[in-house]
Amino acid sequence: VPIGIGDDCAMISPPAGAAILTSVDTFTEGVHFFSGTNPKSIGHKALAVNLSDLAACGAQPLGCLLALSLPTIDDIWLDEFSQGFRALASAHGCPLIGGDTTRSAPGSGVSITVTVFGMVPDPSMVIRRNTAQVGDDIWIADSLGAAAAAVAVRYQRLSPNQLNLLACDHALDYPQPQLLLGQSLRKIASAAIDVSDGLVADLTHILRASAAVDASANSIDPSLGTSLGACLQARAIPVDIALHALPERQALNLALYGGDDYRLCFTASPKNQQTIQNIAQTISIPLHRIGRIVATAGVTLEQRDANESLQELGYEHFR
Ligand SMILES: [Mg+2]
Repeated sequence: VPIGIGDDCAMISPPAGAAILTSVDTFTEGVHFFSGTNPKSIGHKALAVNLSDLAACGAQPLGCLLALSLPTIDDIWLDEFSQGFRALASAHGCPLIGGDTTRSAPGSGVSITVTVFGMVPDPSMVIRRNTAQVGDDIWIADSLGAAAAAVAVRYQRLSPNQLNLLACDHALDYPQPQLLLGQSLRKIASAAIDVSDGLVADLTHILRASAAVDASANSIDPSLGTSLGACLQARAIPVDIALHALPERQALNLALYGGDDYRLCFTASPKNQQTIQNIAQTISIPLHRIGRIVATAGVTLEQRDANESLQELGYEHFR
């Protein structure tokens, strides 16, 4: 970044041949975070969700833009917000290269818009979500369900006594974008997405996008689509350890449908299994093979006793 914050524009000067990737997200009080959330967490998470999108594409961060809309200027709030934002930005080499602060209408909440820029050395290294193929393994990084459990507790749908609440709150408030994992999966993963809306919902995004591409490649009418589905093994789903005191099915449902985990879900040819296990060792993030891509539409859960068709439930975040 030869020109950072302070001029009329910032300038990004990527190495020859590199591809620039960009993503934007708005983070609104009362919709994406609860009123009264620790400002440090808000600063962290507003950037983390964007970095997570870069991670899903295999990109390395270059810089970010921040637009803040505040009903009142509260210096303490701003200071804590900046601490959370800056700590994550510097941990991932993603400098703030431009920003704007405006006053929002009285009575409205805080609104934060972050734009990130990242790069891959070569356009062929971008990991897409529309390139999964029948026979691919489905993988998920780390664990699932803790952030959704924290949301459920805040809505009083779940008793805090059954959980490691501290760990769940931390998962919700301080998600860690899996940038190193994404970069390690270039040329290894056939498709990837970050789990923001829930495993089943985001996996369905991969299936739909890949089926559409498959159909057009085979010069079938793309509107017909090709069937692409997923078969998941219940016992392989990595339910977060903070949920282990919950009834098994309740914990599994939080892992399958809960959002806000920001783990990478990716697909890969079975011939890459050993390479992927080696990546897990190198970057110290457990990677779990949870199922495979099949030619029948829908997501099926294989259990000890029976197979079950899973509904695609959209995660409602905080509404
Ligand atoms: Mg995403």
